[in-house]
Amino acid sequence: MNDTFHILIIEDEKNIASFISRILKSNGYKTTTVYSGTEGLSAAASRCPDIILLDLGLPDMDGVSIIEKVRTWSSCPIIVISARTHESDKVSALDLGADDYVTKPFGASELLARIRTSLRHSNRLRTETGLFLRPYHALGLTIDFTGRRVTLDDTEIHFTPIEYKIVAYLAQNSGKVLTYAAIMQNVWGPYITDDTKILRVNMANIRRKIEKNPASPQYIFTEVSVGYRMLETESMSC
Ligand code: CA
Repeated sequence: MNDTFHILIIEDEKNIASFISRILKSNGYKTTTVYSGTEGLSAAASRCPDIILLDLGLPDMDGVSIIEKVRTWSSCPIIVISARTHESDKVSALDLGADDYVTKPFGASELLARIRTSLRHSNRLRTETGLFLRPYHALGLTIDFTGRRVTLDDTEIHFTPIEYKIVAYLAQNSGKVLTYAAIMQNVWGPYITDDTKILRVNMANIRRKIEKNPASPQYIFTEVSVGYRMLETESMSC
């Protein structure tokens, strides 16, 4: 079913662009490659891709400003490809509406996994309303969003209301990295301070309740200096 998906690659390094395009084509995706931000914006508008892979360091404009522009008219998933080691670039890209990122150098399997996750999320957003959410299920952890019930290997886990909101938000976006700011605004509202201590304290408590070894989590992973990513649910399908 992949062959219906069209992926726009905006990347000025030709060897990386052709590496990506080759991987995607051999996995059944259709691709369009452009080498500048200007071409990228016009292709994003005219070709209606299902997903955009965007290099942040382009010769003619900053990739982050492309995200800003595309987001004014499209909710097409954007995965940032970044060679930059500065976490602040990833964070601003995500907060401006990018869905995820991969850091160069990356492997084919990592890129393909990010693409599948983003496609699943955009598909889910189109086809489901907020009234009904399929339960989260992974490695014995189940979250029933309608009943607000969390179980681990059939034992009920008791969360505080704040802990539940954090876990539910991560689980509803499972597989995707969420920035500290995005989580805090979702849980505490738009006027929350940008001090992440309160989130980190709650996360420590959540991990004590669900992780066998909180120092080496298997459900909620730390993306250093960026945010958290929850293990992808097993129950979602394209
Ligand atoms: Ca570049």
